[in-house]
Amino acid sequence: AKSLGRNNYQIYEVSAEQAQQQNMALKSGLRHAEHNGELRVFYQPQVDAVTEDIVGMEALVRWEHPELGFIGPGFFIPLAEETGLIVSIGEWVLRTACKQAQEWERKFGLRLRLGVNLSAVQLMQANLLEVVASALTESGLDPNLLEMEVTESISIKAAPNLVDNLHGLQRMGVRIAIDDFGTGAASLDYLRKLPADRIKIDQSFVRNIGVDPDDEAIVRATIDMAHRLKRGVVAEGVEIEQHLQFLRANRCDELQGYLFCRPLPTPSFEKLLSERQRL
Ligand code: C2E
Ligand code: CA
Ligand code: CA
Ligand code: CA
Repeated sequence: AKSLGRNNYQIYEVSAEQAQQQNMALKSGLRHAEHNGELRVFYQPQVDAVTEDIVGMEALVRWEHPELGFIGPGFFIPLAEETGLIVSIGEWVLRTACKQAQEWERKFGLRLRLGVNLSAVQLMQANLLEVVASALTESGLDPNLLEMEVTESISIKAAPNLVDNLHGLQRMGVRIAIDDFGTGAASLDYLRKLPADRIKIDQSFVRNIGVDPDDEAIVRATIDMAHRLKRGVVAEGVEIEQHLQFLRANRCDELQGYLFCRPLPTPSFEKLLSERQRL
């Protein structure tokens, strides 16, 4: 069975032909998902590794399909990239999340950092800076609280606008994080050439803490390297206490994962913030 994501609808083993028909149907559904109001933004907290206070959150998109239920981004983002729909979906996520973050700042007086994923397709758009600037103006969110997450899957050479766009974002005061660090073909080249403020250690390394000494060594070395380069480090996929202890002992700055909280829909995240505030 092919999974559409954790706890989501499952598509069972189908023939190649059926799968292709299914993809086409989903692509056409996706075309209308945005204006039909079927897209949702979920938020997952990022916590300080020492105090475990919530210091930020990552916006993660979901598609609430009228018949199929929730479809995870791991499944539909690739379809959105193929069709180019990612440009408008990504912009919608950015605007929605910026407005939400600004509202939470106003309601709770918390200055939480907001992480938003940027697809390679968006990063190559000539008007990316205008789109981000308008999302910030429209929401009133402080640019310093916005962090765009960029994956290493994009070749710097193949994407001429990429480096300029990232420098432009940095000039606006927006932060840049390299997502899934260590899984791309050119991690160190990325680190050297891109104006990144932070590194997100990929969950495939974090998962092997306590299991594979080589991966533990890579995690340690990544944290150390990031700090020597004056960059912050976030670990994602922190699922168990042992991950937390290891990452804390090795001075990772922030943590994200099911151990603390799953991605939550807006009302649940807001409830979490209001409860934390009363502590
Ligand atoms: P990502 O950016 O690496 O996001 C982290 C993924 O790990 C999320 O999956 C999150 O739910 C999941 N996760 C968080 N904590 C844990 C944990 O402790 N254990 C495990 N096993 N998983 C954990 P999700 O929400 O299904 O998103 C998958 C991917 O889809 C994201 O990976 C990102 O690449 C992409 N994506 C999500 N939202 C957007 C978006 O708005 N725009 C773009 N371009 N891509 C997005
Ligand atoms: Ca991410
Ligand atoms: Ca990631
Ligand atoms: Ca990923």
